[in-house]
Amino acid sequence: MLLHDDSQGFGPVDTSQSPHACLKTLKFKSVSLNEGFWTKKITVNRKISLHFGSKMLEKAGNFDNLRIAAGLIKGNFRGYVFQDSDIYKWLEALAWEMGRKPDNELSSIADQAIELVVAAQLPDGYINSYVQTREAFKPWIDLDNGHELYCAGHLFQAAVAFECALGDHRLLNIACSFADHICSVFGPDKRHGACGHPEVEMALVALFRVTGESRYLDLAKFFIDQRGESAMKGHRSYGPEYHQDHIQVRQVIEAAGHSVRQLYLASGVTDLFLETGEQALLEAMVRLSKDINETKLYITGGLGARFDGEAFGDPYELPTDQCYCETCAAIASLMWNWRMLLASGEGHYADQMERVLYNNILAGPALDGQHYFYINPLMLREARYLRLSTDLPPSEIFIPSQRPEWHDCACCPPNVMRLLSSFSHYLATRDAKGIQIHHFASADIECDLPTGLRVKLNIMTEYPWQGHIRLRVVQSGHAPWRLSMRIPEWSQTPRLSINGEIVRDLRREKGYLVLEREWQAEDVVELELEIEAILVASNPRIDATRGCFAIQRGPIVYCLEDRDQEITGRLLDVEIDKNQPLLTRWDSGLLDGVMVVEANGQFVDYESWHGRLYQPATSSVLANPRPARLVAIPYYAWGNRVIGGMRVWIPNKSI
Ligand SMILES: [Zn+2]
Repeated sequence: MLLHDDSQGFGPVDTSQSPHACLKTLKFKSVSLNEGFWTKKITVNRKISLHFGSKMLEKAGNFDNLRIAAGLIKGNFRGYVFQDSDIYKWLEALAWEMGRKPDNELSSIADQAIELVVAAQLPDGYINSYVQTREAFKPWIDLDNGHELYCAGHLFQAAVAFECALGDHRLLNIACSFADHICSVFGPDKRHGACGHPEVEMALVALFRVTGESRYLDLAKFFIDQRGESAMKGHRSYGPEYHQDHIQVRQVIEAAGHSVRQLYLASGVTDLFLETGEQALLEAMVRLSKDINETKLYITGGLGARFDGEAFGDPYELPTDQCYCETCAAIASLMWNWRMLLASGEGHYADQMERVLYNNILAGPALDGQHYFYINPLMLREARYLRLSTDLPPSEIFIPSQRPEWHDCACCPPNVMRLLSSFSHYLATRDAKGIQIHHFASADIECDLPTGLRVKLNIMTEYPWQGHIRLRVVQSGHAPWRLSMRIPEWSQTPRLSINGEIVRDLRREKGYLVLEREWQAEDVVELELEIEAILVASNPRIDATRGCFAIQRGPIVYCLEDRDQEITGRLLDVEIDKNQPLLTRWDSGLLDGVMVVEANGQFVDYESWHGRLYQPATSSVLANPRPARLVAIPYYAWGNRVIGGMRVWIPNKSI
């Protein structure tokens, strides 16, 4: 196998050689995070979650499944058909984490898992512990629901991570052997069909990028082109739409079916565009993005309105208490929007990344790093009912006191782990003219520009709590280059100074402030984004939230938790007074340190209804409201004390 000369060392998406990428990703170690909001989360992930993940994968039988497949022990396969993918996602997380900083313990648990993968692989390259532990070995008999190619995709991504972050070829050898096996089975003159759960498409493109083997890119295109024949029977009562097999990828006009599948497919399609430049693919993805952002997106960035089929709903169908918003869908949205950003350079994709990152993705894991939500509702009715998974045993459909440790279908926890461990990948890019800063965190960034300049930057910020971003040029060269900094969609009046001088004529392109000059070492750029709490209204067609407001401060969406209110048990009665100012205060002792927002509102007079559900609208039954101070915390932090009533959307004061 020939490796690209400079393919090693990039992050999850390497567009350094992609001919149609507007923006080029940086090498993985080019961005190192310093103390700040994200470093706290990533440290919990590193020190707690990754070790915890190892224990849970052992407990849930994932490792044993590989041991049985390898003939090391006897026993029965446990779990879902896609159980191997949890291991691969967790391994991917380990690779990025060790790539940033070596760790002997992590290295040791990674080695043990890799040895199992090596042992379980068949001589022809095939590996899937579910299929290998059946009484009769029958691979590829259920492409719709068997998840063999899905698991292969996660193996490929883990392999790319070990190769890029660590220069460790072991998993890449396994992956390429399996990919070659798949190439021998599927293709235009071979077997037709595609996996019911997209994932392998983007993974094959990643494998192509790291190896330079074009057959992997061709296979990704083949699988993408297979969709739209309605050949997939669907899952249970769901038709081919469940698998996005109801329409050809280039004809797509709206998001449909299982949300994670839709978004993983979109990621693969966008990856294919980045390599081939086929406009019809990008145009379809732009239509898909428009449909989602204009009619199917929760304020938290959550996607998938329906439990039924874990699916997108109709336009504006965005219920708050029975929504799905799977953590994996949120992560998939970030992955896809990142690819759209790389393809177009348009900042509104980075805005969507930010929305989902600070809200839905961060709500998935508990602050302790060892409990996880699968479903992320925007309202809980006094903890009466919290359905956690779509079709799982009663043990997972109950009123928990906190997020469950793990799930029978444990796709989300290791997905969070790999996202957090590779977070630094998503902060910045370069193009022919300079560097783009997409997300704000304290970090050191270094980058070689195509002009030959080596640039080093240092960013200091208290973002997302404060809007001050200080960027210092540590090293530059004697030639002009462009520094682009994203202005978030919520920021109306950003201010910027260079070396203390306010810049009045700010040049904006594609959602970025663009500063071009011959930068000198020790130049300082200071960007001031006005982070203040505001009320957000929803499109009136979203009937579930009509007449309500949500509190947002900078990128962070807030919620009311029952336990913080002056009378508990009455979240259903609260209303907010939109004419009163919102106050913020920092509470370092609460939920690992959060900015709390307080609003004026009231409790409606529930007692005057005397147990009735309905009465003539002429009655003055809402008289005598009780004024109340409403206390809001960041949505991502909810459910970290005892899970109780919670709501993001608050009805406007009625009288
Ligand atoms: Zn999931």
